[in-house]
This record gives sequence, structure tokens and C-alpha cells, in this order.
Amino acid sequence: NQQILLSKRPEGMPTEENFEFKNTAVLAPENGQVLVRTIYLSVDPYMRGRMSDAKSYAEPYKLNEMISGGIIGEVVQSRSDQLSVGDKVIGMLGWQHYNVIEASGVRKVDDTIAPLSSYLSVLGMTGLTAYFGLLDIGNPQEGETVVVSGAAGAVGMIVGQIAKIKGARVVGIAGSDNKTAFLEKELGFDKAVNYKTAGNINDSLKQACPNGVDVYFDNVGGEISDAVMSLLNDFARIPLCGAISSYNRTDGDIGPRIQPNLIKSRSLIKGFIIGDYSDRFDEGIQTLAKWVSEGSLKYEENIVEGFENVPQAFLGLFKGENLGKQLVKVNDE
Ligand code: NDP
Repeated sequence: NQQILLSKRPEGMPTEENFEFKNTAVLAPENGQVLVRTIYLSVDPYMRGRMSDAKSYAEPYKLNEMISGGIIGEVVQSRSDQLSVGDKVIGMLGWQHYNVIEASGVRKVDDTIAPLSSYLSVLGMTGLTAYFGLLDIGNPQEGETVVVSGAAGAVGMIVGQIAKIKGARVVGIAGSDNKTAFLEKELGFDKAVNYKTAGNINDSLKQACPNGVDVYFDNVGGEISDAVMSLLNDFARIPLCGAISSYNRTDGDIGPRIQPNLIKSRSLIKGFIIGDYSDRFDEGIQTLAKWVSEGSLKYEENIVEGFENVPQAFLGLFKGENLGKQLVKVNDE
């Protein structure tokens, strides 16, 4: 049973040196527990925060201990009435091939109604983040302009499409021509801007948003957000979801640096953590699943194969290597 430990806390951009592979024995489940074989493992930007020891909303990972995160697996041994061998389950589990866990610590998923991996993407945390952040805080109205940064990532891609479903005009910001073309051609974004080649991002955005910005779903923070927030219409709404442009910074300087504009436009800016919506997850999953089955919501997964590639897949998030949700397929379904 191979595991991945946090061997060193990163300063700035993490590297493979922050991770260590370790071989251990597979443990046997005790009463009330199950043994779960990992199938899909989710790597997420928030894990960068947990690799540091700074206090945040999620507990820091402990040094020289196993990293954990969202995992989908199969029950291969059960000593619980609640789960049977062969059941597919999702939970926050350790980065290893086999986890022993209380049956109540995982949730059964039905792979006959949706692909297994989708429970870690569109029907999982990232889909729900897009759904509640956009609809609860952003509240986009027909004809309004919605801008989303990190638009070709797991959350951003869903945000833009939900905004389209609600009748908004959608502008995405992403880091490659391949990504912007995908957003416009495959997902129906009205416009997508490549922030790396845009030259003056302020000018490019101004052109892309001739009627200003009513909703800005912020995944990245920093200069990109400064540029979007210079275009806010009166009573704009800004769900603050993430600030990936700052996660590896060591100087701490990050926006928003356009306060006068926020005041002048009387905008609402609100941070949120997806866990706050846990009592409404069923509603979110049902609606997302309905849109997927109707064909109005597409999703994309960037699936890398092999446990040995988990660190690289994680590091790739900070280099923009993923289109859609980054997952690792650790073992066969
Ligand atoms: P993504 O799938 O969007 O992957 C990260 C993407 O961020 C990369 O592909 C890259 O795309 C972009 N990126 C990386 N570095 C930078 C940078 N310096 N400046 C601008 N863009 C950058 O991840 P998720 O969809 O899972 O997460 C998106 C955001 O949402 C993150 O900030 C995350 O922390 C946050 N989040 C917040 C939650 C909450 O509860 N509040 C829950 C889930 C996620 P590109 O090529 O475009 O640069």
C-alpha cells in the first residue's frame, strides 16, 4: 500500500520535493469499518493552503503525515451493515491505494446514473461551488454580463455555463488560446480572454465587456481581478471563491486594489466556503445532474493515470496544465 506524505512545507511554488512516497501494509477493517480501494483521487488548489502551517478554514496537513482529499473508491472488505463489497463510495480519504474508514465516514454513490468520476467534478465539490457561489451570491439576471476568472478550470467552466443557462452574457478569462477556444466553441461562452497574451488586460476586458460587468465570479484574485473590478456596473455582485494567483506568493501583496470603484458602484463582494452550503447539497446535485442530462451543462475532466503522478497533477494546477477538473485515476473502476 503506497501512500503520499507531506515531507516538507513549501515556500512559494511547491515542487515534487514536498512529497514523499512511502510503502505500508494494508490494514484490515474492524467492526463498523470498511476497506476502500482508491479509484479516482481529486487534486485541488485549496490543498496548497493546507500544505502551509498558516491558520485557514481547513486544518494544515501534518508534516511527515499522509495528505488527504476527495477520493472515490470501491469497498473491497466490509465489516459494516451500511456498506457492501462492491459499493462505490466518496469521502475525504488519505492519499493511498487502500483506506480503512468508518462506514459513516464515506457516502455511497450510484455509478449507474452518472459516471463515477463526475462525483468529484460536476456533481462534486467543484460543481457545487460554482452552483452556490454563482446563484446565491452572484444572482445573475437575464442580459447581464457575468465574468469568470479561472474560466477553463473545474469551477470556472461550470460557472460560465450556469450563467448562460440563466440568460446572461458570459465572458471567461483563462491562460491559453486552447482554453479560450474551448470556452467559446465548446461551451458557448460569448467571449474568452487569454490573460497571458492579452497585452493590456484592462483594454482587452473593456472590449469584451462593452456593457460593463454585473457579476464577477473570482477564482484568481490579483491583477486579473483588479482589471475586472474596474468595469463594475452599479450594484454588481462578486462571489469571492478563490485567489489562486496569490497561493504561492511570498510577498503577500494581493488585491482588491480598486476600493473606490467598489464603493462608487455599491458592489457586493462576498467570500464563501462551499461547506457552508452542505445542507443544500442535494438541491445542488439534483439541479446540476438535471442540466447535465438535458445537455445544457457540459463538463470536462483532465484525468491523469497512475498514483505516481499525483504530485505532478497537483503541481500542474498552478501551471494551468488542466482543462476542467483535474483528477488522477489510481486504479481501475
Ligand atoms: P482549477 O481547475 O481552476 O485549476 C486551477 C487553474 O487556475 C489552472 O488551470 C490555471 O488556469 C489557473 N491559475 C493557476 N495559477 C494562476 C495564476 N497565477 N493566475 C491566474 N490563474 C491561475 O481549480 P478549481 O476550479 O478547483 O478551483 C478554482 C478556484 O476556486 C481556486 O482558487 C480554488 O482555491 C477555489 N475554490 C474555492 C472553493 C470555496 O469553497 N471557496 C471550493 C473550490 C475551489 P489558467 O491556464 O487559466 O491560468
